[in-house]
Amino acid sequence: MDSSSETPQAPHVGRSTEPLVTRLAARGVHGVALTWVDNAGLARVKAVPLARLGQAAERGVGMSPVFDIYLVDDSLTSSRYTGGPDGDLRLVPDLDRLTPLAAQPGWAWAPVDRFEQDGRRYPGCQRHFARRMTDRAAERGLELRMGFETEWVVTRDGAPAATGPAYGMTRMVELSAYTGDLLTAFAAQGLDVLQLHPEYAPGQFEVSVAPSDPVGAADEAVLVRETVRAVSLAHGLTPAFGPAVAPGSVGNGRHLHLSLWEDGRNLCAGGDGPFGMTRRAESFLAGVLAALPELLAVGAPSPASHLRLQPSRWSAPFRCWGLENREAALRFITGAPDDPAAANAELKCFDPAANPYLVVGSVIAAGLAALDSDDALPDPVSGDPVDQGLPRLPRSLPDSLELFRGSALLREAMGDELFEAFAAVRAAEAELFADHSPEELAAATRERY
Ligand code: GLU
Ligand code: MG
Repeated sequence: MDSSSETPQAPHVGRSTEPLVTRLAARGVHGVALTWVDNAGLARVKAVPLARLGQAAERGVGMSPVFDIYLVDDSLTSSRYTGGPDGDLRLVPDLDRLTPLAAQPGWAWAPVDRFEQDGRRYPGCQRHFARRMTDRAAERGLELRMGFETEWVVTRDGAPAATGPAYGMTRMVELSAYTGDLLTAFAAQGLDVLQLHPEYAPGQFEVSVAPSDPVGAADEAVLVRETVRAVSLAHGLTPAFGPAVAPGSVGNGRHLHLSLWEDGRNLCAGGDGPFGMTRRAESFLAGVLAALPELLAVGAPSPASHLRLQPSRWSAPFRCWGLENREAALRFITGAPDDPAAANAELKCFDPAANPYLVVGSVIAAGLAALDSDDALPDPVSGDPVDQGLPRLPRSLPDSLELFRGSALLREAMGDELFEAFAAVRAAEAELFADHSPEELAAATRERY
């Protein structure tokens, strides 16, 4: 169904918020931050005092659609459907996701869906796109389980805040109170953290959370980042979530793990396809792998993404897949033989400049498009793909944008309005940074996200 023709309905009309407000007040919450993620990959916010939460849930909070064509530096472009100072949208919080923020005492957070003033779904809403694609999978009897890994670099006075070795316990000792506060805040917010560790680059850390439904995974990507930001700032540290922190070095990825389920069974295990995946999962993953060049503008959308996407840095810039291969754009993970639920695929080429809602929606669209094709995956690759003659993913934003623009698959899935606005922002960012040196580009973007 065309999203713009849906019955007008905000999600929480008729639901009483009183008990929730009372509970939040008892916990000392006085304000609720309502976020959505724009086409530049930035979380934008309107906040309401707690007393206004009920009204926000019922009628939404106003915000201009112009933010759909904002760039990472807050300048703006225009697209065929969006631009100019006119119009307003309603931000409607998803109360099921409302979370008191452990690292921002007095505050709670909720992601929003965006509606037109007359109550229709706004076709440019990225979160609704993710939901539509999830529903599309459900119509095929399929469920996706997804989870993002978050990498970031922390600095103090411009220098890496931890100087110990990659994956070194030294770093955990150097920033023991910080990492401890991170875990405390994640737990208080109900985030099911799998791991926290120091990553390769100086001052770099990573946290991964357990898989959830696709929209939930994207929501959690937002919550994790804002929690890391709040805890970092409270410790006098500056977090950098940009894809490239220092050109010529390892960057920040935001890898997406996914598995495909049917009737409570993980289709990534127990089948007769490669490494035990079922044929259905194989077709789905073959579709994602085939579409990666056109998906790249969504998952690695900044010019700075291409400073990161270099060979032999585990950013996986080759369109290939392999079992536990960290240089392959798609890494397949079987998990332990007695734990079929753990089998999954990891898309490693994606980074933190991406809008996580657009990422999950686009990946589902690409996988579903291949589901009936019986497409098989190509041969898996082992070892570093760099000298194996394998296809490189697009090397620049203009190149990936051209493929995105030619993608009938993504245009159909996103709908013209979202597709055009996203493409316009990508084009404008390519132009904005065209004359920047790698150092200038990294500096202009690393602390924006
Ligand atoms: N930092 C690497 C990246 O740019 C990823 C390292 C890892 O495999 O976790 O994606
Ligand atoms: Mg990592």
